[in-house]
Amino acid sequence: IREQSRIYRIASIPGDGIGVDITNAAEQVLHKLSSASGSTFEFAFHTFDWSSRNYLERGWYMPPDGIEQLKRFDAIYFGAVGWPDPDVPDHISLWSLILPIRKHLSQYVNVRPTRILPGTTSPLSNCPPSSLDWVIIRENSEGEYSGQGGISHEDTPYATATEVSIFTQVGIERIMRFAFETAKSRPRKKLTMVTKSNAQRHGMVLWDKVFYQVAEEYPEIEIDKMLVDAMTVRMVLNPKSLDTIVATNLHADILSDLAAALSGSIGIAPSSNLDPTRQNPSMFEPIHGSAPDIAGKGVANPVGAFWSAAEMVRWLGEEKAADGLMKAVENVTANGIKTKDLGGDRNTQEVTDAVCAELESVF
Ligand code: ATP
Ligand code: MG
Repeated sequence: IREQSRIYRIASIPGDGIGVDITNAAEQVLHKLSSASGSTFEFAFHTFDWSSRNYLERGWYMPPDGIEQLKRFDAIYFGAVGWPDPDVPDHISLWSLILPIRKHLSQYVNVRPTRILPGTTSPLSNCPPSSLDWVIIRENSEGEYSGQGGISHEDTPYATATEVSIFTQVGIERIMRFAFETAKSRPRKKLTMVTKSNAQRHGMVLWDKVFYQVAEEYPEIEIDKMLVDAMTVRMVLNPKSLDTIVATNLHADILSDLAAALSGSIGIAPSSNLDPTRQNPSMFEPIHGSAPDIAGKGVANPVGAFWSAAEMVRWLGEEKAADGLMKAVENVTANGIKTKDLGGDRNTQEVTDAVCAELESVF
């Protein structure tokens, strides 16, 4: 007789474009994971049709009590949001869905690991798999994405806009502490902090100051400080010199797309939006967007979605199942079963089926 299963309630928000394809793939793999691992848990998905399509048809992304609804779940799985329609500019779609969820559920940390998976290669010629293994810790609640600011004299030749970045001692301290703990949990004990404090002379200067304050608590961690422009150069020319990286909302957004591209494809990279206090559900999503150019064609790379799912499983406390899922994904890429962006010729469903088949044997 099977032990009583723990049921994890997952809010699933496929969103737009390939978000739909890869969420579907992730759900298949998660169902398989719960049956294949001899595990004592199952997933109950509840799908929310909060998308640009919904907005165009009904005028809203998420209902007014959307955040309250999400609070009832153990975790949130998110596909992508954004659609190239003149009636849904990107700032509307982002500020209607993903940014309010991160903000109102206090998901102040965004974790973005990057490494080169077996059977895949970096576009960098100086970069064997062992030389790129990073975790980018992105501040996820303030900074350049505060949403504060405005436009005056709009639609006149004198139109002037402000985009206010907000940095607080409390906000910086908590992300720094998370970054130091992450660095501490990894073998190399190394943290690189990124700012633009030579040109941005208020918020970035506070960011530097708090970094050195928190560093005092972690004498065992080797630290260094980079300006974001120089950081892009270092990521390309000397990837091996980096390990854990902490940066602001905007900077880490950009650096993590670069990191994903350097590891082989933006299609493989995962992200976790965490509320480390665990008072609210955390949210897991691949870092790529809705990719309208390949939407609905069934060719999107689901690896970033699977890796994000594995991080969700880990956050829920199921370490062994998370490791098994990653092992299955790595066996599949190692066997050359890959989508076009990784140089392969398989479609989304073929990669999904291959991962499900591997799940039969990894435990
Ligand atoms: P967002 O603003 O939501 O971050 P974006 O405009 O930055 O979106 P993405 O949707 O992330 O752009 O994708 C950029 C390009 O990368 C896509 O047009 C697509 O060609 C490719 N791409 C992204 N994700 C995948 C994937 N999972 N599989 C294959 N190709 C992908
Ligand atoms: Mg992007």
